[in-house]
Amino acid sequence: MISVACDLHIHTALSPCALAEMTPRNIVNMARLAGAQVIAITDHNSCRNVTAVTKAAGNKLLVIPGLEVWTREDVHLLCLFPSLVSAEQFGAVVYAALPDRPCDGDLFGEQYVFDEMDRIVGWEERLLLSPTSLGVDDIASLVEQLGGCIIPAHVDRSYSLINQLGFVPPYLKIPFVEVSRRGKQPQASGMFNAVTNSDAHTLADLAGSKPWPLSVESVTIHSVISSLLALSSTGT
Ligand SMILES: [Zn+2]
Ligand SMILES: [Zn+2]
Repeated sequence: MISVACDLHIHTALSPCALAEMTPRNIVNMARLAGAQVIAITDHNSCRNVTAVTKAAGNKLLVIPGLEVWTREDVHLLCLFPSLVSAEQFGAVVYAALPDRPCDGDLFGEQYVFDEMDRIVGWEERLLLSPTSLGVDDIASLVEQLGGCIIPAHVDRSYSLINQLGFVPPYLKIPFVEVSRRGKQPQASGMFNAVTNSDAHTLADLAGSKPWPLSVESVTIHSVISSLLALSSTGT
């Protein structure tokens, strides 16, 4: 087994709350400077920029396809997948569960789709910064069917499992919870280990990130997901 430095929660400028500087090449270069070897791209309710970041990364960095899903309970869950195909399948279900509300760029920020050269090749028109009609249980079973892994996001902050539900459902299979950079591990997550990802929305967030170590058999997407699934247990 080898240890790789991970940051599994990064937004591109597809997320309206992220700065326009969060382009594929900028993210790859800054994540490398911060010492990451494995990153996950987790935009709100979409994985449309994962391919561009993967291509921009080439063999410099491993990119895990992911999304940060916003459930109907107002909970943010990081959903990571063993392939782009499975992430896209999941992304289609999530997209269909989003309210059909256009993104007002002046109010929320633009939702840019890039190519690997940082060129803007499109805009996501439906507002991604919305709760979907999918519940935590729906997400859990879909992600499991697709061979993916769930990490509850920023459980010490708002829009989290602990903040919204008051607990981590004991049947939910997770490798650990995520606590935010300025947070402390809350009492309610005490039964789980915790990691801190950057949840980067800006390059400064990435520059100040502290990638954490994960043991993997090899530096491949499958191997990272397998390691996360092997760590996964329920709280029961
Ligand atoms: Zn979040
Ligand atoms: Zn986030």
